[in-house]
Amino acid sequence: MSKPSGIPTFRDADGLWEGHDITEVATPEAWFRDRELVRTFYDHRRVACANVLPNPGHDALAALQHNLGAKHVTLVTQNIDGLLQKASAEDVIEMHGSLWRLKCEHDDGHPRVGVYGPQSRTAVCSTCGVLMRPDVVWFGEMPSHMDRIAQALSRCEVFISVGTSGVVYPAAGFVELARASGARCIEVNPAPTGAFFDEQICEGAEVALPTLVQRYLE
Ligand SMILES: [Zn+2]
Repeated sequence: MSKPSGIPTFRDADGLWEGHDITEVATPEAWFRDRELVRTFYDHRRVACANVLPNPGHDALAALQHNLGAKHVTLVTQNIDGLLQKASAEDVIEMHGSLWRLKCEHDDGHPRVGVYGPQSRTAVCSTCGVLMRPDVVWFGEMPSHMDRIAQALSRCEVFISVGTSGVVYPAAGFVELARASGARCIEVNPAPTGAFFDEQICEGAEVALPTLVQRYLE
């Protein structure tokens, strides 16, 4: 989804970031072992994403939600770049959190705070006083808002999957849940996953979505 906007992957040819395996900077264990390294990794990502703009795919989904209302269009993303919000989508469920927020390192229920540049090394939770970590779902952690997503899938009429690999659960199972609810299931992916969909559009999101959403605009 965000690839055509130029979001850097932060992996070099060896799958490494500055010589570190990605799991050395994106796990809870990494955070408690070396917070400075993890903060630096996310600081670099924020700086690199700061000036990235949404592409026509993001704009199309935001327009669809504006047109039909957030009550009827649920946007769920695995991306942490905030580009759907930048395209002015009003309500986005961020399964994997956001690059642009920090949360308490001990209690997921404590208040988040926004972060836009490098993270303050001394930012602490306003409720309990411990350090703040990136509000990002790391390897080994459960995606967020699964109850809300399951509820939306249970009353879904049209399910559009955009560019996911289709192999990582729980997201890979969404199409099965949507189909069980009787939804028409559409996959937008230049490299289709092979899962069962009623319709497959083998194009990038920035090409396919502006046309696809026209069907549903009122
Ligand atoms: Zn706290």
